[in-house]
Amino acid sequence: MERLQKVIAHAGFASRRKAEELIINGQVRVNGKVVKELGVKVTPSDKVEVNGIPVEREEPVYFLFYKPRGVISSVNDDKGRKVVTDYFEHIEQRIYPVGRLDYDTSGLLLLTNDGEFANLLMHPSNEIDKVYVAKVKGIPLREKMKSLERGIQLEDGKTAPARVKMLSLDKKKQTSIVEITIHEGRNRQVRRMFEAIGHPVLKLKRERYGFLNLQGLSVGEIRELTPHEVKQLR
Ligand code: URA
Repeated sequence: MERLQKVIAHAGFASRRKAEELIINGQVRVNGKVVKELGVKVTPSDKVEVNGIPVEREEPVYFLFYKPRGVISSVNDDKGRKVVTDYFEHIEQRIYPVGRLDYDTSGLLLLTNDGEFANLLMHPSNEIDKVYVAKVKGIPLREKMKSLERGIQLEDGKTAPARVKMLSLDKKKQTSIVEITIHEGRNRQVRRMFEAIGHPVLKLKRERYGFLNLQGLSVGEIRELTPHEVKQLR
């Protein structure tokens, strides 16, 4: 037995709070009957609908994927390019990525069919650290690295404080490998931050997401999160 709002949130219809609103507003039916109370529990065989649309009840699943470069963080692509779910064809649940990595970015990406979990992780208040390793053009001066740490003005506002570490540099090739830790998740954020200090990103990889890393996985490989890991992320 599960609470109705949880079932709706899990299916990705809405956050749990929104799901409660849907119920109170009379937009939810259980076995054809409108239910407006919040305490109601349902079994897997109960038919739940939101605005007449059946709510799919799947076993929640959670995966960690080492995304290769050249793959779209989406479930389909109108240009026919490779998408992350192509790697999950053997999985029967309808999963989708938690946030996204750019087409050209490799690294750690979570996928799930648990909409509530995905919403929770993506919510800005959650402030999960994401660690990226960037190969950038040129050798950024200390002061420029500091400005990334303090926060930098981008067209969609100033970035939150970040941690930045020079891992190595190649004077001959004039490139550097820099680790940057951010907890925001704006579109192309790391690329735009380095662009703004005059050191465009040549290669980008997400090494860590919170306490999760890519240990034991090769590019294109998948593993299930353990129940303990899922619990820790919630
Ligand atoms: N920042 C970027 O610029 N790209 C990503 O894929 C992730 C973070």
